[in-house]
Amino acid sequence: MIKKNPDLSSKQKSILFDEETESPGSSDLNNEKREGSYHCANCGIKLFDSKTKYESGSGWPSFYQSLPDVFETKTDYLLGYTRTEYHCKHCKGHHGHIFDDGPEPTGKRFCNNGVCLVFKPKN
Ligand SMILES: [Zn+2]
Repeated sequence: MIKKNPDLSSKQKSILFDEETESPGSSDLNNEKREGSYHCANCGIKLFDSKTKYESGSGWPSFYQSLPDVFETKTDYLLGYTRTEYHCKHCKGHHGHIFDDGPEPTGKRFCNNGVCLVFKPKN
């Protein structure tokens, strides 16, 4: 059972719960360079540390690693090839896809919809 935060916008809901994708370059978080942490916009759990964020050039906030055990993944075939989609383990909200073209040390790219994240600057 997915618990929806009543404060979410319709755009956030369409991505988190209907697996839509925001337009590339549309998120202010693309340019967020401060130290801090990224949380699930629906349930608030911490998903990423700013240290693992990098500029992928994709137009979406990108991270090479999430915090341990915060996501569950499933394979989708929507575009005719397989992609690994990830959901918040806590609230089941859809966040994005994981690709294998990320930087060291993981080689992974967590391509996350910006509207699904809330940035909390350190201090
Ligand atoms: Zn969540």
